[in-house]
Amino acid sequence: MSTVVDHWIDGTTVLGRDHHDIRGTVDNSVHVRVAVGSAKEVALATEAASRAAADWRWLDGPTRGRILRAIADRIREQSEELAAIEIADTGKTPATAAAEIEISAQYFEFYGTLVNLPVGDVLDVARDQHVYTKREPFGVVGVITPWNLPLNQAARAIAPALATGNTLVCKPAEVTSQSTVRLAQIAEGCGLPSGVLNVVCGSGSVVGEAIVRDPRVRKVAFTGSVGVGRAIGQIAADRLIPLTLELGGKSACIVFDDADLDRAAEEAVRAFVGNAGQVCSSGTRLLVQDTIHDRFVERVSELVREKSPGRDYGPMITWPQFRTVQGYLTEAHQSGLTPSVGGRIENRDPSSGAYVPATVYPDVAPDNKLVREEIFGPVLVTTPFSGEDEALRLANDSDFGLVGAVFTQDISRAFRVAERIEAGQIGVNTWVTGAVETPFGGCKASGYGREKGIEALHHYSQMKSVIMRL
Ligand code: NAD
Repeated sequence: MSTVVDHWIDGTTVLGRDHHDIRGTVDNSVHVRVAVGSAKEVALATEAASRAAADWRWLDGPTRGRILRAIADRIREQSEELAAIEIADTGKTPATAAAEIEISAQYFEFYGTLVNLPVGDVLDVARDQHVYTKREPFGVVGVITPWNLPLNQAARAIAPALATGNTLVCKPAEVTSQSTVRLAQIAEGCGLPSGVLNVVCGSGSVVGEAIVRDPRVRKVAFTGSVGVGRAIGQIAADRLIPLTLELGGKSACIVFDDADLDRAAEEAVRAFVGNAGQVCSSGTRLLVQDTIHDRFVERVSELVREKSPGRDYGPMITWPQFRTVQGYLTEAHQSGLTPSVGGRIENRDPSSGAYVPATVYPDVAPDNKLVREEIFGPVLVTTPFSGEDEALRLANDSDFGLVGAVFTQDISRAFRVAERIEAGQIGVNTWVTGAVETPFGGCKASGYGREKGIEALHHYSQMKSVIMRL
C-alpha cells in the first residue's frame, strides 16, 4: 500500500486533485503518491502565509524560540519515522538518513536560541538626532528545495526564516515531498500558528514558478540546479525580490605531498562517495601533488573498492539520474579513459536498484567534461599538479565555487591556499563537514547568499534605519 501525500496549507491537509506515483529506485515499486499542485494551491498558501505574517512577526521572541526548540525536540522524538520516510523516498543508507534528521533538529534548536539575535545599532550621527537600525522580516518567503537531503535542506531554510519572523510557502522536490509535509505537521503540533508554514507539493515548472511569481512572496530561498536557479533569478530580477541561491558544485580537494596521506585518502573518499555523490558539496575533483599522485590515487582506489553500494551508499534518486550518470561514464569510456575502480554498468535490471559503483578516473585533463561538469553521482577525477600556484590555478579553473579542501602539514601553506580557493567554505585537513553554526554557500555558478550560522539570519531579514529628531 502506498502512502498518499497531500498539501499542508493554513494548518490543515488540502487534498490534491491529482496524485503522481513515486517509484523508489531500490526496488522500483510505487511507495508513495504525491499531490500534483497548481497555481490555485500556491495562491491559497501565500494568502494563508500573508494572513499569518503580522501575528507571527510580533509574537514575542521567547515564545517563538520555544516553539522552534519544541520542533527540534519533536524531530528527535520522531527521528525513526522521519528517517524511514527519507530512506523510502531516496534509498539513502540508515546512517546517512539518521545523521540528516539529527542535523534537521539542530537547525531548529540553533535558530530557536537565536530569535531576534540580529539586533541593530544606535548610531551617533548628530546632536539633535537619535538614529537606530533594526532588522525586520521580509514577510512571506518561498522555499524551494531539491531531493538529495530533503528534510535537512528544508529545515536549513525554514528554521532561520521562522526565527527572523517570516512566514513560509515551501515546495519540496516532487520525489521527496513527504518529509517536508511531515515537518509542517510536526511544527503545527508544537504550537506553530496555522498559516505560518505551508507546503505545496507539485512540479517545479508549475508550483515552484507560481511561488516565485506570486506578488505576496517577498523573498525566495532556492536550493537546486544552476539552470533552474538562473530561471528563478530572471523572474526575481523582474519582480525586484531578493534571493538566496544554493546551486551546484564541482569542488576540489588539494593534497600536498607533506600531508597525512592516510587521513587525506579517507577524507577524499568520504568527499565523493557520501550520499552516492548526490551532494552539492561533494569533492569530485582530486588535485594531487605529482610526487605522490599515482601512489595516493591507488590508496584512494583501494579504499573505494572496500565500499559497497547499498551498504555504504544509496542508489541514484531516479532512473533518469542513473542514466545521466551512466552517460558520463559511457562517454569517458568512449574517449579512452580507464577508471582505477568502478566504471559504467552495461545493463541494469530496474529491480536490482539504480546503484552506480563509486568510480575514480585518474589523471584526467582539466578540460575534460568529467572535470568541468557537475555529475551528481559518485564519480571522482584526479589531476596531478607540481606546486602551490598550479594547484590553485586548477582548483579555481571551474565555473563553480561552493567548497574546497587542502591537505598539508605546512600551516602557512594551509592558510595561503584556504584563502585563495574561490569557494564559500574550505576544509583544512578535513573534507568540509559544516556544522549548523558554520555559514554555507557559494560564489560563481554555485550561487549567492548564505545559509546556516548567524549569517543566515541576515539573509532572512532586512535592515531598517529609524532617524528621530530630538
Ligand atoms: P532542480 O533545480 O531540478 O530542482 C530543485 C527544486 O526546484 C525542485 O523542488 C524542483 O521541483 C524545483 N524547480 C524545478 N524547476 C523549477 C522552476 N522552473 N521554477 C521553480 N522551481 C523549480 O535540482 P535537483 O535536480 O532537484 O537537485 C540537484 C541540484 O541541486 C544539483 O545541481 C545540486 O548541486 C543542487 N544542490 C545544491 C545544494 C546547495 O546547498 N548548494 C544542495 C543540494 C543540491
